[in-house]
Amino acid sequence: MKVLPSKISNLESSLSATPLLSIIFNGNNLKFIALLLALALAVSTLLLLPFASLLPASAQTAEPQNNAPKDAEKVAFKTTYQKGAKLFQEKKYPAAAASLAVAAQSPLDDGEAGILLGYCFYEMHQYQKALEQYKKVSETGKLISVKNRAQRLAATLSSYMKGICPGNCLKPSTPGWRKMDVPGKPDRLVWMVFPYLDPAGKGGSEYWSNDHMGEVIEYVNGRPINKGPCPLCSGTGKVSLPK
Ligand SMILES: [Zn+2]
Repeated sequence: MKVLPSKISNLESSLSATPLLSIIFNGNNLKFIALLLALALAVSTLLLLPFASLLPASAQTAEPQNNAPKDAEKVAFKTTYQKGAKLFQEKKYPAAAASLAVAAQSPLDDGEAGILLGYCFYEMHQYQKALEQYKKVSETGKLISVKNRAQRLAATLSSYMKGICPGNCLKPSTPGWRKMDVPGKPDRLVWMVFPYLDPAGKGGSEYWSNDHMGEVIEYVNGRPINKGPCPLCSGTGKVSLPK
């Protein structure tokens, strides 16, 4: 029993000491080793418990303490977002905007609160602010679907603000107008060419002139079809926003 340390505090260094190791590997002192291990366990428990009790409460409960602000942030975000959405449905736009502006600032917003804030500005006829809001979400939104939606909203609103129909009707601003020599048609006309391939793979094109401004040409089964006056602008090519 001479390797058993007289002082408990020496136990740890003794455990790694060569004489002890040689005893262990001898395999003849199993009872002694078991006793030693039990003692070591008891000592470590005795040493650790008082130590733990000396730690400040915050250190002992470090994880829950760190999660608490996150949970609080989630609840705060959800609350302001839902409040804003409810106020928006009730058409209380200034109050809704105030709530949504807070929600949109949160890193927890995937962009939906930001878009809804844009809707509020739109409803309040603050179009420039609405446009800026959509553009912001199109860049900073957390979901690609939300970013894309914000981008489409920005493009549509931007077009409306310029008074140009955002639909796919023929407009002076549509790229591709060209002069063409079309027999029997006056020189003043410009033309838009719509190419197509027939099922046999043979190509062709159809043309519509600027006499068809405001009409929608769409491909149906691979062929360009004139669908008539644009439903968005009633065939005028022009739109306006509520003042
Ligand atoms: Zn249109």
